[in-house]
Amino acid sequence: MPLHSSAADHIRDLGDYVSASPSSFHAVHEAARRLDEAGFTGLDELEPWNEAAGKFYVIRDGALIAWVTPEGAGPTTGFNILGTHTDSPSFKLKPKPTTGKFGWLQAGVEIYGGPLLNSWLDRELQLAGRLVLLDGSHHLTATGPLLRFPQLAIHLDRTANEGLTLDKQQHMNPVFGLGDPAGEDLLGLLAERVSGNATVDPAQIGGYDVVIADTQPPAVFGAKSEFFASGRLDNLSATHAGLVALIAHAADAGGPAQAAAPSTGPTSRTGHSSGQAPIAVLAAFDHEEIGSASRSGASGPVLEDILARISDGLGASVSQRRQAFAASVCVSADAGHAVHPNYAERHDPVNRPVLNGGPLLKINANQRYATDAAGAALWARLCGDADVPYQEFVSNNVLPCGSTIGPLTATRLGIRTVDVGVPLLSMHSARELCGVEDPYSLAKVTERFYGVAA
Ligand code: ZN
Repeated sequence: MPLHSSAADHIRDLGDYVSASPSSFHAVHEAARRLDEAGFTGLDELEPWNEAAGKFYVIRDGALIAWVTPEGAGPTTGFNILGTHTDSPSFKLKPKPTTGKFGWLQAGVEIYGGPLLNSWLDRELQLAGRLVLLDGSHHLTATGPLLRFPQLAIHLDRTANEGLTLDKQQHMNPVFGLGDPAGEDLLGLLAERVSGNATVDPAQIGGYDVVIADTQPPAVFGAKSEFFASGRLDNLSATHAGLVALIAHAADAGGPAQAAAPSTGPTSRTGHSSGQAPIAVLAAFDHEEIGSASRSGASGPVLEDILARISDGLGASVSQRRQAFAASVCVSADAGHAVHPNYAERHDPVNRPVLNGGPLLKINANQRYATDAAGAALWARLCGDADVPYQEFVSNNVLPCGSTIGPLTATRLGIRTVDVGVPLLSMHSARELCGVEDPYSLAKVTERFYGVAA
């Protein structure tokens, strides 16, 4: 399936993807469903793989690695990797989650990552994630509208508009009903709402990874319909762009292997590029919002494990795998900041990205972003070839910038990495804001990236 033919179609599809993905587990499940539909084969890490050329994916918990190996790929063929993440700042269900007092039923939750707490107040929220039963089986669950963090009325907090203080333990206990918590069971509710036709006995639930997600559908708005509001744009905007780009690339790559097709400049920019069409990879990690250190996060081994197995399938020696890594590039795509008109002083005085000005190229002298001169030049070339604009992001010197998976990938694998992403306002809000054009532009550049040897 080719890319959508317009930004409006792309953004509608992004809305569908976000709505189907209230948790990282749902995000990889929905991605796998779309990959299956596009003829990809899901591989199991427990089984031997004998595949060389073709289109495949692997799910490890809340992470997904998908790839297209072109015909003619060999042991030193490089990987063109788009790195993203599937998780978003939220709240995670605690053990013994059913609590409450004064006739209210409440849920016990921990804070997951760095949500803007105030933005989660007074919304219809759901629980979503996975249940693992004592027999080891996994089940996705999503409740639909169920909970709310009710804000205290202004009459009882006259200073709320001067500075709202939310204690993470005392004030962040959402209500989900009325009754006696002793007679209620939130896990029972989750068991009732598992996906598919499975029936789950709550007594058989051995563990759960369940987060809170907003239920309000995404919306396009603004004077010229230029805005898009949705939960989880950080970072499903990039995960979705990578997914549609990989599916489009796979459709294109059905024929003979493509040669590298740069529009300008020398053909060998790294000194290693063979002109051989690369192996196109989407690496969607979990746990970025909490530091990436997990078996499915970017600091863990998941990407290296899968790339090594792909190399093995192509008959690579250890040294040839190193050659392949040297010929590889990672574009790490994660949401970034557009200039906020009411807080312009928080941004760099010169580099001020706007919505619909194109995806960001993120730069940081201290390598909180992995972009270097070679990566920047590659990004400029790809955007030129894809005919989309881009804009540089750099932090104000007195405000330390966040980081992302780019430096982790570069540090772990030694693969050249460039940090990019869709510009947002309200990052880590329950409902973030981006431009209608930028996610589509990111998908177009990514499709271009997948098709050329870097
Ligand atoms: Zn992010």
